[in-house]
Amino acid sequence: MSDYDFDLFVIGAGSGGTRAARMSAAYGAKVAVAEEYRVGGTCVIRGCVPKKLLIFGAHFAEDLKDARRFGWDVPDCRFDWPTLRDNVLADVDRLNGLYTQGLENNGVEIILDRATVTGPNEVMLGSGRKVTARTILIATGAHPHVPSFPGSEFGITSNEVFHLETLPKRVLIAGGGYIANEFAGIFNEFGSKVTLVNRTDVILRGYDAQVRDRLLQISMTKGIEFRFFAEFEKIEKQADGSLLVSMSGHDPIEVDCVLFATGRVPNTKGLGLEAVGVELDKGAVKVDADNRSSVDSIYAVGDVTNRVQLTPVAIREGQAFADTLFGGKPHQVDYHCVPSAVFSHPPIAAVGMTEGEARNKLGSVKVYTSDFRAMKNVLAGRHERALYKMICDGVTGRVVGLHMIGPDAPEILQAAAVAVKAGLTKDAFDATVALHPTMAEELVLLK
Ligand SMILES: Cc1cc2nc3c(=O)[nH]c(=O)nc-3n(C[C@H](O)[C@H](O)[C@H](O)COP(=O)(O)OP(=O)(O)OC[C@H]3O[C@@H](n4cnc5c(N)ncnc54)[C@H](O)[C@@H]3O)c2cc1C
Repeated sequence: MSDYDFDLFVIGAGSGGTRAARMSAAYGAKVAVAEEYRVGGTCVIRGCVPKKLLIFGAHFAEDLKDARRFGWDVPDCRFDWPTLRDNVLADVDRLNGLYTQGLENNGVEIILDRATVTGPNEVMLGSGRKVTARTILIATGAHPHVPSFPGSEFGITSNEVFHLETLPKRVLIAGGGYIANEFAGIFNEFGSKVTLVNRTDVILRGYDAQVRDRLLQISMTKGIEFRFFAEFEKIEKQADGSLLVSMSGHDPIEVDCVLFATGRVPNTKGLGLEAVGVELDKGAVKVDADNRSSVDSIYAVGDVTNRVQLTPVAIREGQAFADTLFGGKPHQVDYHCVPSAVFSHPPIAAVGMTEGEARNKLGSVKVYTSDFRAMKNVLAGRHERALYKMICDGVTGRVVGLHMIGPDAPEILQAAAVAVKAGLTKDAFDATVALHPTMAEELVLLK
């Protein structure tokens, strides 16, 4: 008989927590998971999944326009936000059910309640129930950061955006990261007037400069307005419900909705971690390569550790945790060459070093680019150019980075990332016969 109620108690049923809980239970551990909102977490309930469905919905605006050039007689179409919103939310409910089932099928006890840590092996639930566990896993994710200034409470975040009653005619998006740029594209395609406001003049920090510039240029051509070097001063709600937003360096702007996409903060506040000796670093749980915190019995995975805030990374960390602690297959997550994407219009995808990073790290670097108009865009009369960039080690020829903007870039890059991760050289790409006619063939034809 164990001295504890559970072998493992997981706090948070998101990407990392559900994987860790399900796999640990499958290995024979007695597992419970506490979830204060909905099983599935950010990605499934209010992140990647509903966002990608909105991206699909938004893209029809361009497809319907382009279809005319391909001979289709498309009458004037009207977009209905409540239809898309409700269909997306219904799919979220379906996935919430599947995630719940996945846990239950493996014998995980699901506790729909908030949990806090009250000891190295003790957790307190919102209901007042106390439970003990040999191991506690913190998988509480992150939440949107909202800057503090007068009237900022009138804004919304990505948590609320999927539930909007009506489509705003004018929307201000605060931030320059991937969530800001993705929603700028979504609202713009739906016909809203979009203004993106950022503190600096850099969008998508961390992505290759040329690729970022291309998105900026295309976004502006599509009608998205950018305001750089702007600090918010206040938001005033006017009699007609519209919002008057004042900021430094620019005229005030009247909009119907302000969406803050200004970063995500690890969910550690009020969790009781510091009191039991868990060390934090800028609010994130500090862990070692085995996801162990400064307290031996407490581990953490996913966004709450603020390593790489992406779903597949949280899942890998949850899997590695379960394999190592309960599966007898110890291993650590390899963070080298994690691919990422921005589902903007058009999308961006990247893996490995940017040109700047490679020049700093390697010194000798060779860069190959293809700047082209996708075949479909040519016939559609869409003056939008794709850009592919391959960064190679100047000495060995090894491909150390791939950066792309253009139709289907994330779909193409996922496959090409295998080659980059495997350390293949440019010669290996060149030796591969092109698959014609595709956009991806540019990757094996770079001169
Ligand atoms: C708008 C948006 C778009 C995104 N798009 C992408 C994308 O395209 N690709 C990608 O890879 N990533 C994307 N992400 C990031 C991705 O969603 C996260 O990296 C991922 O969900 C992290 O998983 P996690 O398990 O760490 O945390 P989460 O999935 O956030 O799960 C944490 C869970 O813990 C619960 N919780 C928190 N505190 C407690 C408590 N005290 N007690 C009980 N439960 C608690 C929360 O309710 C939540 O359900 C996106 C995020 C957002 C916001």
